[in-house]
Amino acid sequence: MILVSACLLGLNTKYNGETNAHSLIQSYCSSGRFIPVCPEQLGGLSTPREAVEIINGTGQEVLLGRGLVKGESGEGVTSQFLKGANEVLKFPRMFKVTAAILKERSPSCGVHFIYDGSFTHRMIPGQGVTSAMLKQHNIPIYSEEELTEERLKELISEDMAG
Ligand code: SF4
Repeated sequence: MILVSACLLGLNTKYNGETNAHSLIQSYCSSGRFIPVCPEQLGGLSTPREAVEIINGTGQEVLLGRGLVKGESGEGVTSQFLKGANEVLKFPRMFKVTAAILKERSPSCGVHFIYDGSFTHRMIPGQGVTSAMLKQHNIPIYSEEELTEERLKELISEDMAG
C-alpha cells in the first residue's frame, strides 16, 4: 500500500479547512493502493487549526527532542505532531507499505523542504516530522511535486507486485 497525504487526495484536512487536491494523484485512486493519512488530525489537532512551523530545525530535530512545533501565536503542538507521526507509523505495521507520497513544505509531510520557523515563507531543506519518521523507518518518501505520471504508475506497479 502507498500512504498519501489526505489533503492531496482532496480531503479537507489542511490547517485552514481546505485541501491540496492533486488531480494526477486523485486520478489513480481507483488503483486501490492508497491509504489517506493526515498526521496532524491523527495527532489530535482540530480542523481548521493555526498554521504552525518547526522552530530550531527540521522534523529530524523534533524526533530527537531538539526541535519544537509552534504557531505564530506561540502555542506549541510538538506533542500532537509526535503523536501523529507515531500513529502514521502504525500503517507499515498493519500493511505492506512500499512508499509514501506526501505534501511538500508541510511541517508534518514536507519531503525535501519545510518552512524555517520564521513565518516569513522562507524554506530550508529537510523533512517534516512524519516524513522524517517514515524515512527513519526506511519507507521511501516522495513529494507530490516530484511525481511524474510515469513515476506514479511505477510506484503503483511496484506496490502491486508486493
Ligand atoms: Fe495534508 Fe499532511 Fe497537512 Fe494533513 S498534515 S493537511 S496530510 S500536509
